[in-house]
Amino acid sequence: MNLKKLMTLLLAGVMCVALAACGGGGESGGDGASGNTPENLTEDVQAIVDRGVLRVGVKTDVPGFGYQDVLSEEYSGLEIDLANKIAESLGIDEVECIAVTAATRGQLLDSGDIDMVIATFTITEERKSSWNFTTPYYTDAVSLLVKTDSGISQYADLDGKMIGVSTGSTSMEALIAAAAENGVTLTKESNFSEYATYPEIKTALDAGRVDAFCVDGSILSGYLDDTVVLLDSIRFSPQEYGIATKLSNTGLAEYLDGLVNTWLEDGTIDQMISDNGVAASFEE
Ligand code: GLU
Repeated sequence: MNLKKLMTLLLAGVMCVALAACGGGGESGGDGASGNTPENLTEDVQAIVDRGVLRVGVKTDVPGFGYQDVLSEEYSGLEIDLANKIAESLGIDEVECIAVTAATRGQLLDSGDIDMVIATFTITEERKSSWNFTTPYYTDAVSLLVKTDSGISQYADLDGKMIGVSTGSTSMEALIAAAAENGVTLTKESNFSEYATYPEIKTALDAGRVDAFCVDGSILSGYLDDTVVLLDSIRFSPQEYGIATKLSNTGLAEYLDGLVNTWLEDGTIDQMISDNGVAASFEE
């Protein structure tokens, strides 16, 4: 086999892993829509139905929310269940999961590569001017992961410390505000290191390059091991997760908001939360 052919095969392999299916939407099996498609859909929603595949940006490393098993490549979690249920309600049989991070999910929506993001995406006023968000389906809180022997247990202990956060996340601003409310001054320049991915922050924590790893508790729970502890004493800044769509896809946004509201009212979302072993939504 020549090198070019080998490279093509390897690349194809990478694509298959990255685009592994989330699971089925409808019950009927086979390709495309299952025939249970609702009527009078807006153009943007109809285009997805006609394609017969729902493309959803999900996390792969957040247990209980969006998680991909390394060996089986199977996806699981509340956000995967939501994606499959949306496909089912549209009569679509196929859901394609595309791995996203805090830094990539907005661009992938804008480019049209994905139809929606269901990926621990916090609704903020600023983000609402770039994307549509549904009513929140879950509320988490920001927290800190520290080494068991770090001596960090309260805001005062963060004075002079270095904290790892991810680029494009709400975490740094949230911690600066919460620390200030508790009498501790943290600044972007002196107290934070930004990383592109969460595994890089965990490596930095293990290597002692940062003293704490700060993001939503749901995300931190994916990095627990014998050497670290998730601080119950520092939980702040409610993070309301919404399903995000491209700003111009207003019909799709409205359709999804209708589904989320129905599923909040009829207990479907509560059931998914408990099925996935996720803690009840955070309340201050
Ligand atoms: N939920 C937070 C955010 O949207 C944390 C980052 C993340 O979801 O990866 O900024």
